[in-house]
Amino acid sequence: MKKRVLVSGGAGYIGSHVSVELINSGYDIVVADNMSNCDLTCFEGVKKITGREDIPFVKMDFCDMEAVNRLFDEYRIDAVIHFAAFKAVGESVAKPVLYYKNNLSSFLNVLEAAMGHGGCNVLFSSSATVYGEAEKLPVTEQSPRLPATSPYGNTKQICEDILRDTVKAESSIKGIALRYFNPIGAHPSALIGELPRGVPNNLVPFITQTAIGKRERLSIFGNDYPTPDGTCLRDYIDIVDLAKAHVAAVRRMLDGKMKKDYEIFNIGTGRPVSVAELVHSFEKVNGVKLNYAYVDRRPGDVTAIWADTALANEELGWKAERSVDETLESAWAWEKHLAGKE
Ligand code: UDP
Repeated sequence: MKKRVLVSGGAGYIGSHVSVELINSGYDIVVADNMSNCDLTCFEGVKKITGREDIPFVKMDFCDMEAVNRLFDEYRIDAVIHFAAFKAVGESVAKPVLYYKNNLSSFLNVLEAAMGHGGCNVLFSSSATVYGEAEKLPVTEQSPRLPATSPYGNTKQICEDILRDTVKAESSIKGIALRYFNPIGAHPSALIGELPRGVPNNLVPFITQTAIGKRERLSIFGNDYPTPDGTCLRDYIDIVDLAKAHVAAVRRMLDGKMKKDYEIFNIGTGRPVSVAELVHSFEKVNGVKLNYAYVDRRPGDVTAIWADTALANEELGWKAERSVDETLESAWAWEKHLAGKE
C-alpha cells in the first residue's frame, strides 16, 4: 500500500513544489491549507504537472484542533510535512502575538493529533535564520543557534525545540527538521512558483516583478558589507532541489533509516552568492536590464550565511543540482506566465 503524506500549507510556494515531487516519487498525499496567504493557482498547477485530478485537498486551519483531528481520522497519515505558518519577518515584529499563536499552536495541534492517532513521522520546515549572524562559515548543523532577531525566527527555533522534546518523550513520533537556506525559482513547467501578496519582501520575486514592470526599481540593501563586492552573501537553493530534499527525508523516515529519532539537516547548495552577483546573473541569463539602486542596509539582515551540506549529501543521498542560472531562468518564466494570465 502506498504511504500517505500530509502536506500542511501545501497550497503555498514550497508546499506545492514538494507535493509534485512526492507524487512523482509514488507517494499519496493530502494537501491541507487555510488559504490565508495563497489562492488555488499552485494547487491547480500541481494537478496539471502530475496529471492527477484526484489529489485530496482540505481547506482547514491547523489552529483548529478539531479540524486537525478530523483530518487524522479521515486519512491514515504516515508522515506529515508541516509548512502551515506565517512567514513575513517584518510583520512578525509588528504582530508577535499573531505569529506566536499561529505558528506554535498549528504545530502543537499537528503533534497532538499525531500522538492521538498512533504516532507519525513529522518533518518540520525550519530555516537557516536559526543560525543568525554565524561566527564560522559555512554553518553545519552543529553550529550554534543564536538568539532570534524576530518573532518569526523565534517560532522556527521554538518549533524545533518542541519537536526535539516531543520525540524524546513519545516513542511514536519521529522528527526531522530541514533548515532551508534561500529557496528561489519555480518549477520548470512554469505552472507553479512563488506568489507574493503585495510588495515582495524577498529578493528574487522583487527582481522578477521589477523586470516585468510591476515595480519601478529594485533596492539593493547595502553595498558596504565586509564581503567581496560589499553586498550580502546567501545560499540560494533551487525550489525543485529543495522539494526533492523533502522526499529524501520522508523516505528516510518511512524506511526506518533514521540514525536518531530527531535529526536536523541543512538544505542549501553550499555556495555563497552575493546580491549583486544574483542580480547580474538574472540580467545575463534572461537578457533583461534591471532598474536597481544601492540603498541603505535593511535592519536585521545578516552579512553572510551559507550551508555546509555534507550531512544532507551523505545521509539523505541528496544534493542541489540545478545551477543558479537555470533557477533564475525558471523564476523569470514563472513571472512571465503570471503576466500572461493577467
Ligand atoms: N535584498 C535586497 N533587496 C530586496 C530584497 C532583498 O537587496 O528587495 C537582499 C537582502 O538584503 C538579503 C538578500 O537580498 O541580503 C536576500 O534577502 P531575502 O529577503 O530574499 O532573504 P533573507 O536572506 O533575508 O531570508
